[in-house]
Amino acid sequence: MKLTSLPSEFQKALPILRKIQEAGYQAYFVGGCVRDVLLNHPIHDVDIASSAYPQEIKELFERTVDVGIEHGTVLVLEGGQEYEITTFRTEEAYVDYRRPSQVHFVRSLEEDLKRRDFTINALALDSEGNLVDLFQGMEDLQTGVIRAVGLAAERFQEDALRIMRGFRFQASLDFELETETFAAMTVCAPLLEKIAIERIFIEFEKLLLTGAWTRGLASLLEAKAYLYLPGFDSEAQALFSFLEKMRDDFCFTSSAQAWAGLLYHFTNKQAAPILKAWKTSREFQKQVLQLLEILSKREAGLLSAWDCYLYQEELLYQAEDLRAALGLTTDHSYLEMSLAALPIRDKHEILVTGRTLMQEEGIQPGPRMGQVLKEVELAIVTGELLNEKAAILAFVKERLND
Ligand code: ATP
Ligand code: MG
Repeated sequence: MKLTSLPSEFQKALPILRKIQEAGYQAYFVGGCVRDVLLNHPIHDVDIASSAYPQEIKELFERTVDVGIEHGTVLVLEGGQEYEITTFRTEEAYVDYRRPSQVHFVRSLEEDLKRRDFTINALALDSEGNLVDLFQGMEDLQTGVIRAVGLAAERFQEDALRIMRGFRFQASLDFELETETFAAMTVCAPLLEKIAIERIFIEFEKLLLTGAWTRGLASLLEAKAYLYLPGFDSEAQALFSFLEKMRDDFCFTSSAQAWAGLLYHFTNKQAAPILKAWKTSREFQKQVLQLLEILSKREAGLLSAWDCYLYQEELLYQAEDLRAALGLTTDHSYLEMSLAALPIRDKHEILVTGRTLMQEEGIQPGPRMGQVLKEVELAIVTGELLNEKAAILAFVKERLND
């Protein structure tokens, strides 16, 4: 098959491919970008594979960065764009089921395509637009099938992360998992325990943020892969109920929202240790835990002014949207009104500060002052006290005299 017109992202990269070819090496567009072009999806990164060794690529281009030279990847900067050029390689021997112990650079495209995970990701395109399709990737793209390259069970044993990637691609493309591929994913699922959780998190996050996330998650559950994910093993019911209750067409706006939705159903209400076990960032943990707090407060009724003040507006809406997706009662207009009615959004807006109290009123700093300022903040937010200097000073003096 030959593409008659290449997308502009590829056109821009053509001089790079040609330069490599003129030097006597092969160069192809490979992987996700080829898949996405054939599907008419937007392309994020244009990845290039070449028979040239990293050192040879570096000699050809003026501006390069060693981003992963031990894996054969050199970043080339040209025309204001960045291109990852990776030497054809094989990854035969795997240690710990995790990472290839050694990457072997090879001069054959075929060898390089063979090591790729799924047929739809093992396509290459040359600078003339000719498609190299050694594993019927095009057919699988057309029929909407995720199929492992080669013997599925071997491929998942080599690198169990591919199991998560399989669910992820099923969700992002809304494809079907080919029977043997799915069977091998199920059999190999226990090997997920050997994979670095940060890598699993990335794939799982990508899965949750796709349009067909319910499909990917359903397969993950069907394959019993959840048994090998931290904190998920004892939560089968919660996972199924999450899947069942969430509106099918709901798209999460953030991965924190997706995780909060998930953990909200867990019977073990200890979300923090699970998020830690997944080695997520502190900021991420904070967002998920706050979303869960908001959800739990909303169960008891509408949020108070103080709650609206306490949490980021974005999180309040995300929690409300989750409720909507779960078919629970929602009140977006109440939330909007409460936020609009807040006298202040941040404590820096309070017209009297600790410094004012010390410098103008001669009040000694200390824990009591901190406490009184907290009371001022609460009183302003709840509308009991006006955010005016005189009123605040009177309030403070009264409290300090108590
Ligand atoms: P995305 O659009 O999400 O970036 P992608 O297909 O580009 O999808 P990447 O994770 O960026 O996925 O990987 C680029 C390519 O490298 C894949 O298309 C696939 O050919 C290959 N690849 C990546 N990870 C693996 C893996 N674990 N095993 C085998 N091949 C892989
Ligand atoms: Mg990619």
